[in-house]
This record gives sequence, structure tokens and C-alpha cells, in this order.
Amino acid sequence: MDGTYGDSTRSVKAVGSESIPGQPVAPVPIPASTFHLSPDEAEGLDSYGRSSNPSWRQLEAALAELEGAATALTFGSGMAAITSVLRVLAKPGTTLVVPADGYYQVRRYAAEYLAAQGVTVIEAGTAEICEAAQGADVVLAETPANPGLDVVDLHRLAMTCRGRRATLVVDNTTATPLGQQPLSLGADIVVASATKSLAGHSDLVAGYVAGSQLELMAAVESDRLLSGPILGAFEAWLVLRSLGSAGLRFERQCQNAHALAVMLRGHPAVVSVRYPGLPEDPAHEVASAQMKRFGGLVAVELADADAVHGLVERSELLIASTSFGGIHTSVDRRARWGDPVPAGFARISAGIEDTDDLLFDVEQALT
Ligand SMILES: *Cc1c(COP(=O)(O)O)cnc(C)c1O
Repeated sequence: MDGTYGDSTRSVKAVGSESIPGQPVAPVPIPASTFHLSPDEAEGLDSYGRSSNPSWRQLEAALAELEGAATALTFGSGMAAITSVLRVLAKPGTTLVVPADGYYQVRRYAAEYLAAQGVTVIEAGTAEICEAAQGADVVLAETPANPGLDVVDLHRLAMTCRGRRATLVVDNTTATPLGQQPLSLGADIVVASATKSLAGHSDLVAGYVAGSQLELMAAVESDRLLSGPILGAFEAWLVLRSLGSAGLRFERQCQNAHALAVMLRGHPAVVSVRYPGLPEDPAHEVASAQMKRFGGLVAVELADADAVHGLVERSELLIASTSFGGIHTSVDRRARWGDPVPAGFARISAGIEDTDDLLFDVEQALT
């Protein structure tokens, strides 16, 4: 539709640009209400707030546009979106591949709930996921993976999945649709947390599913209706309000992440750095082929846990926070959550501060 526009233009237009004199510019007011039914008993779109409402539909249209999808569905969190799709696809007797190096609560859900329902769950690292997909019915890939930032070759994985009629689900949280469009690379369906860069203000939790296979999307919508993990109308309004600046914020986050990665790789206090945008990064070639931007996350390893604590203490700009994608640059030492990473491993989420200020602050805080 707006394929020729840049990301900031698309973000602004996605929020709604229909011009109706006397009506708000954007977003629409929040009808957080139960709806009157029509007297002829014809089912209206808005019979009840758990099935659909105008706040969701405006947000869903914007998300579908950004992902290049036919339709999108909002959820109360990224996990609600992911688990709804997995409930639809990973039936008893099927084999599901989940990322060994991705978001840890997805692995927990698969191991604690789906495996108990008779789903065979295989955990595969990014490097082995194509091989694991050979024996799968459903593959969930996350790229760049949170927190290690390895990158999955989505086109290759999609071909493998297609070859054995497995369904490919891609978690697009870290890259956002402004960084990559998994559906255009062959994914069957996209899941994501909007809590992070997309909403981007560290003030809400939300998720979504996007896709163009209408039967699959209808099954996910039905699961949402029946299990009820819905987004509140107020949060939908807030996400939509935030989407208009997503292009601008993400551009600065990517610029800051890249500058931080370059500074960090030459710093004596740093053991190692991962950022898909660095030419020497093992993921760079694949990332360059499939991503429009390399994202706002940088993975860095310092000597130990104390080195990470010291970095945050000495810095005036970094905040310790486990979410990411907000306007502040934040740091999370992932070993505290049980991620399989060294004690001194930190995921840095670049905010939207001035690049020079951030570089100066982090460099002096490391020393
Ligand atoms: C945060 C995150 C999720 C979960 O999203 P919530 O909105 O917190 O439920 C899923 N996948 C990835 C990659 C994430 O970073």
C-alpha cells in the first residue's frame, strides 16, 4: 500500500490519516464500553469487548500495514500472542521447535504446558534450527535472538519448513517490522511483543500476531475470543499513539546501538560484543541480506557480574531494567534470569539520547 514511503512516514501514516472534518486527527477516541446491539439481531462487529472493538481495529490495521500482512490481532502481551499461536498450531502429537537461545519464557511455556499436552518439544539454537526443522511440524524462530543476538537465515528456514509442510512462526520483537518483515521472507505468521521498541515508552505491556493466511488468523482470533488474553482499550490507544513516532525512535535506537557496538569492541574492559550491524559479527552477512536495520540491542560481555553493576552505577544515562526498547538506554545482566550466558553478559538496549552523550557516558563508566 505505502511500500514506497520511508519508515517514519509509514509509521505516521499507519496511525491513521483519513481526513474527516470535525473528527480527531488521531487516534480515535477510546470506546471502552459494552455495545448496544442492533434490534434485528444481526451480529455487529462490536457485540462484546472481548471479540473486537474500534480501538483494536485501528491498531490492528496499523500493525498489519507495518508488517506487510493482510491482518493483525492485538493481545494483552507478547506472551499472550505467542501462546495463542502455539495453542492453535502445536496440537498433541506434533513436534515443535523453540529457540534454545531466545526469550526464556517461551521455552518454559513449551516445556511446562505444551509438552504435558503431548507435544514433542525440541530446543534448538539459532545455528542448528534449520536442521531441527527437518523433523518438525511447527517451528518458532526468533531473530535477532534475545539476548544473544544471533540471526536466523529466515529464507533458508522458510524453505526447509515448506519442504516438509511445517508452519514457520517468527518472533519479530527485537527487530520490529521497521527492521525486518518476516512474512516477506517466507514466515507463515509473525508474533511479537509491542511492549518493547514498538510502543517504546516502557509504560505498557502488549502483543500482536500478524499474517496473511486467513484461515490460520481466524483460528488465532477464535483462540483469543475463547481464552480471553485481550488488550485493554486504553493500552490499544496508547500503542497506537506511540506507533506514529516508532520510525523516528527506532532509527535513533539503531544509530545509538551501532555507535555503542563500535566503541565497545575497542574498549579494554570488554570481553566480547555482538551486534549484527558490525561487519565482523558472525551474523552480519545474513542480517544484511534480510534486515533493513540492525536493531537497538547490543550484547556485551564484561569480566563478571560486578563489572556490569559498576557500569550502571558509574553511568549517568544507563538504567538497569529488564525490558528494552524504551527511550532510555538500559542494561540487563541476563544471567540473573537464568539465561544460558556468562555472569558478565549484559544486553544493552539503546535509547534515543544524543549519540555523543551516550558514547561519552558509557565509555567513561566502563573505565
Ligand atoms: C519480551 C519478549 C517477549 C514477551 O513479550 P511480553 O510483552 O513481555 O509478554 C517475547 N519475545 C521476545 C523476543 C521478547 O523480548
